[in-house]
Amino acid sequence: MNLNIVCIPGDGIGPEIVREAKKVLDAVAKKYGHVITYKDILMGGASIDVHGVPLTDEAIADAKAADAVLMGSIGGNTSTSPWYQLEPKLRPEAGLLAIRKALNLFANLRPAVLYEELAGACPLKEEISTAGFDMMIMRELTGGLYFGERKTVEENGVRKAIDTLTYDENEIRRIAIKGFDIAMKRKKKVTSVDKANVLDSSRLWRTVVNEVAKDYPEVTVEHMLVDNCAMQLVKDPAQFDVILTENMFGDILSDEASMVTGSIGMLASASLNDSKFGLYEPSHGSAPDIAGKDIANPIATVLSASMMLRYSFDLDREADAIDAAVKQVLEDGYRTIDIMSGNSIQVGCTQMGDLLAERI
Ligand code: NAD
Repeated sequence: MNLNIVCIPGDGIGPEIVREAKKVLDAVAKKYGHVITYKDILMGGASIDVHGVPLTDEAIADAKAADAVLMGSIGGNTSTSPWYQLEPKLRPEAGLLAIRKALNLFANLRPAVLYEELAGACPLKEEISTAGFDMMIMRELTGGLYFGERKTVEENGVRKAIDTLTYDENEIRRIAIKGFDIAMKRKKKVTSVDKANVLDSSRLWRTVVNEVAKDYPEVTVEHMLVDNCAMQLVKDPAQFDVILTENMFGDILSDEASMVTGSIGMLASASLNDSKFGLYEPSHGSAPDIAGKDIANPIATVLSASMMLRYSFDLDREADAIDAAVKQVLEDGYRTIDIMSGNSIQVGCTQMGDLLAERI
């Protein structure tokens, strides 16, 4: 297969972790007979330094022409970097918002996996962490409260702020379809999270999810109120496979799920549109405090590349090979500094990439 991938190394540790993810992808391509063409584009601070803006129209056109985008991370030290003296629309993060909009990325996927070998980093009780968990939070990204009409008014001398939460059935249906499609590639269970006991938007959400579920008879669907879900994530995270939810609930729950894994350098993510196209990136930022030291953990980016193979190219066997290499490297005792513990062997970013590529 020919894979046409645009890479956004970005800022801080971005270039280091993308380099290692490419190394692992190249090992996959070699083993399974694929041809990968990469094109790097600039975004964030790296683009500001060269073009004066965080994302150019040419870079957007390149991204649109690709099959998928693999990103490191963008941004600098928000207190000291001159990028943050610029007006907001010229700062690094504006590039991220612009590319998400230009590529119509409405579905955000954040896996939260607790590896047996890293169970010690999990802040939950031992009897919960030893059971492990492997869930995927699927969050609607372009609707709901964050995109509704908002205003602040003053009525009779009292200030009042109004935000509106709107979803139409088409917005719900397209994310629900994505959620069920993803569940079909996993343990075939969808937990749809809402607040249907209070909100009309949640009642419509639940109705549409049930309609979509009829097309996926193999998938078990359950509905859970968001407050209960927040509790269940710390009480019994192993019960979840795909959590399907709207924008604000997903924002909060995905951070909660990430935290219970305890390892920021291990968390991948993807943002998809309604074709197979996606932008894949680690959940963490550009870590300017450790940039250029060759100590960053590249695994979140490597796992993002695995998601890319699985969800944009339907190369499940190849994605499984990457996931297995990650498990193997942990089992063999290798750790970057962020996940280091006990008698493990500490390695840098480059060496971790080498170890992963060797295990493909
Ligand atoms: P961060 O995630 O970059 O770093 C938080 C802490 O985790 C730091 O101590 C860092 O060294 C560590 N860390 C993060 N990733 C690591 C890795 N792979 N290996 C080892 N350690 C790692 O968050 P921050 O410091 O709040 O943000 C730094 C910059 O990143 C800011 O400019 C922020 O806006 C940007 N950011 C970008 C994205 C994105 O590109 N999607 C996301 C979040 C933050």
